Amino acid sequence: MSETRDERVKRLEAVARQVRRDIWRAVRAGGGGHVGGSSSAADILTALYFHRMKIRPQEPKWPDRDRFVLSKGHANAGLGAVLAQAGFIDDAVLDKFYAYESPFGMHPDIKMAGVEMCTGALGHGLAVAMGMALGARMQKKSFHTFVMIGDGELHEGSNWEAAMAAAHHKLSDLTAIIDANRICQSGRVEEVIGVDPLADKWRAFGWAVREIDGHDMAEVVDTLDALPLDPQRPTALIAHTVKGKGVSFAEDTYVWHSNSVNDEILAKALAELEEK
Ligand SMILES: [Mg+2]
Repeated sequence: MSETRDERVKRLEAVARQVRRDIWRAVRAGGGGHVGGSSSAADILTALYFHRMKIRPQEPKWPDRDRFVLSKGHANAGLGAVLAQAGFIDDAVLDKFYAYESPFGMHPDIKMAGVEMCTGALGHGLAVAMGMALGARMQKKSFHTFVMIGDGELHEGSNWEAAMAAAHHKLSDLTAIIDANRICQSGRVEEVIGVDPLADKWRAFGWAVREIDGHDMAEVVDTLDALPLDPQRPTALIAHTVKGKGVSFAEDTYVWHSNSVNDEILAKALAELEEK
């Protein structure tokens, strides 16, 4: 019997819970890392890799695969957790986070299966993703390119150059997902340099825009199913999220943008992420 939509949403929610547990596990193994931005992205990353994207984990370079670029590269613990569950990498790699010569570093590296671009220096993912989408058109391929950008990352002016160019080229097979958790490395985005109104900005740059709750799995799934939102425009999804989502003491605070994790903190976090 095939899976109903509600069953699928429940399954994806369970996957996302495991992704969050694995984020904490990896960051503990590394001694520290970016729990906050990995956890705010966890539901969307799960929906992309377990619902929307055409991928072959056993053939990571399959030419027709959909592409994903984690422009906010500091959330690599989240990406690695998803790639492990999807089968791109062995689960044991999660315990080698930030270890010497490990492919699973603090930021994405193409030496790890499933990673499309080395990121971490912010503001570059959208331009490269745009190149991937242009490449698909030139090669007459139909794959879709996704890029996730942090809201604080939008302080980088290069994003807006790429946004302008992608709209000019009418790249409807390009989707940018803004992980709008309202917090960047050193504080609340609105206090550092405000980026609102986000939806209006992307619309003004020629993009089709939808605002979503980035933790409502049903809404995320329905939105990803609706892509492209416009056959003549790239899509920007403004995903309203909570930094550190899932663990009360890490939620909505810049303290957990990047922080160290010991065994006691890990136990507290995992207790909150138990199966419901
Ligand atoms: Mg942010």
